[in-house]
This record gives sequence, C-alpha cells and structure tokens, in this order.
Amino acid sequence: MQKAIYPGSFDPITKGHLDIIQRAARLYDEVVIVIMPNDEKKALFTPQERLAMIERSIEGMTNVRAAIGSGLTAAYARQAQATVLLRGIRAVSDYEYELQLATANMTIAPEIETVFLLAKPEYSFLSSSTVKTIAKNHGDVRAMGPPHVDQMIRRKYE
Ligand code: ADP
Repeated sequence: MQKAIYPGSFDPITKGHLDIIQRAARLYDEVVIVIMPNDEKKALFTPQERLAMIERSIEGMTNVRAAIGSGLTAAYARQAQATVLLRGIRAVSDYEYELQLATANMTIAPEIETVFLLAKPEYSFLSSSTVKTIAKNHGDVRAMGPPHVDQMIRRKYE
C-alpha cells in the first residue's frame, strides 16, 4: 500500500492544491493532506478552520483525508508510515525553495521520496497569498477555490 502525505499551509486551500490532490489520489492508495505550521508565513485561518475547509473540499474522495501536523514534516511522514511526500511546483520560482526542503527531508528520512507534481497551466499563477490579497481588497476569488472557501474569506475580512 502506498501512502502519500501532502504537507502545506493551505491558508486557504485553492483550486491549485485541489488539482494536485485529485491527481495524487489516482496515483496513491491513500493521500493525507497535512496542515503544517509555517513560521515564515502569518496565517489568516487557524489550523482548525483550515481543516474544516479542506474536509469540505474533499468530500466524496474516498482515499483522501486531512490532518493537522506538527514538528518536522519528514518525521511526521515517517511516523504516519507514508512512503511519499508530495509537493507541487508552479514555476521556476518554486523550485529553489522546494529543492531546499526536499534535500533536507532526504537527509532526515532517506526512505521517504519527495514527489513533485507540476501545476496545471491554469493554476500556475494561483497561490493562497494571491487569494488573500484579492479578497482583502474586495476582489472576486470565486474562480480560485471552492465556494465555501470564498464565504469563509469574506467573513474574515468583513
Ligand atoms: P507551503 O507554505 O508549505 O509552501 P502551500 O499551502 O503554499 O504550503 O503549498 C503547499 C504545496 O502546494 C507546495 O508544494 C506548493 O508549491 C504547492 N502549490 C501551491 N499552490 C499550487 C498551485 N496553484 N498548483 C500546484 N501546486 C501548488
């Protein structure tokens, strides 16, 4: 059985993340989306809020679930008995950061492979930060994520 974890901030989850999740669900027996704390980014949503919005977004996907993680991603993956650590790459700008992370994780847990899925062209400029900036300035973000995420962002900025 191949289990993949997909760690990230998901603050909030976007259609780009969901596309990666749907594609990964076809490749692996089980996919676990793990909300990881990222000290470098100031979060808009609490981990619990993010978990609720992710769970609603993956309703009906039988081999996908979500969890809140802590500590080192590689240690989490090992403890969860995952064999794959999944990440998405949008552009060259993602590459350097992802390379650093994947190399560090390779050192910490060599038995776990980081696998990168390329963003679909229509989502390659979509990020959680873009969604937040647009929503904060009263722009329309309905095309960028599931409808309930749009509602939750609106409530935050009201
Ligand atoms: P992190 O703070 O760990 O980078 P994110 O929630 O921003 O967490 O992203 C999680 C993963 O999903 C990262 O590998 C990121 O590159 C990828 N990702 C983010 N947005 C997209 C997108 N639009 N298409 C494909 N992958 C994406």
